[in-house]
Amino acid sequence: MDGTADKRCSHCGKTASLKCGHCKASWYCDVSCQKAHWSEHKPACKEADLDRTIHRAGQLLQDVFFLFREQLFDESIESIEDTGDTLFLRDRPRKPGTLIPFPHHLVRDEKEKKMVLSTLVCHEPIGYFHDLFIQMLKGTRTRIEEVTVKVKKPAKRTRAIPVRGELRGDWRTHGVIRVITLDASRSWIIDPAGAQYSMFAACLDEQTYQDRYVEKVFCAMKPGTDKLLYQGFAELKGNCAIVARIEWDGVKAVEDAVQKWERNSGLRLPELLRQPEGTFERHREEVLEAIQSALVRFAAQADYSRDILETEQYERAHPYFSDWEAEQVRVKLFNSRTLYRASG
Ligand SMILES: [Zn+2]
Ligand SMILES: [Zn+2]
Repeated sequence: MDGTADKRCSHCGKTASLKCGHCKASWYCDVSCQKAHWSEHKPACKEADLDRTIHRAGQLLQDVFFLFREQLFDESIESIEDTGDTLFLRDRPRKPGTLIPFPHHLVRDEKEKKMVLSTLVCHEPIGYFHDLFIQMLKGTRTRIEEVTVKVKKPAKRTRAIPVRGELRGDWRTHGVIRVITLDASRSWIIDPAGAQYSMFAACLDEQTYQDRYVEKVFCAMKPGTDKLLYQGFAELKGNCAIVARIEWDGVKAVEDAVQKWERNSGLRLPELLRQPEGTFERHREEVLEAIQSALVRFAAQADYSRDILETEQYERAHPYFSDWEAEQVRVKLFNSRTLYRASG
């Protein structure tokens, strides 16, 4: 079965067997019909092409984030309790800055694994992989905004039960990337860490995402704001600083692996995203494998014992001060980089 029996040539209407290699949506009987139809087909073809590129970029960003989070996992989870609509993760005490092997034995399938990996995370992938994502979008004639939303009550979500203190409120505040064409005719939402709310799709067109998941849009920030946030944290002292410094070192390992892959393959990321399906899949697996090995090496060699000791001393000498300092970084960025915020 070649499935082409019912395909009609977009130019002459006869039975067609040749598919447009770019958009995979238009059919032709032969190359001459395809050529004859090109000027008419071009706008639709470019649209479909762009849509595919943005989806691939979003998926790649999410894939990279999950690899990164798994190797740099730092929650010590004792048990996971499934109450039907919630996966409660019970944490053990741990020292900030300590990498902890991901508890594979506690998750039942790939979906649960993604839910756990994205728990308590949302702005991190947007900040840490900002440069990588911008690189992927090169040539697409789009711009981005970093949007904070409140998500609708999901069928199932994760919640972390902290060692000390109360369970956090049911805020459902979440960070995503909005990609908009320069002429503002189309927009998408990229959601690297939505799995914690059962939102697994890495990329959806904005309207679909809004209808399905969004209760309220809180605000949109200029591109690169989350990157500045985690850079700001890394310059501080104390618990959130050591975590940010380690994660930036992990990001460097990812970026180096991508550059090395680009040199070896002769392809750049934006070109990778425009390859035909088979070539794309093959190279995508290659680049993810390269990133994975780099992260495994990074985690195996990571020794932050000295920084952890200094962090403990700092936290003892200045209790709660690092939380306050981190909040100052956040407030300053929020005040200077907000594009728009919800009224009421
Ligand atoms: Zn034809
Ligand atoms: Zn086409």
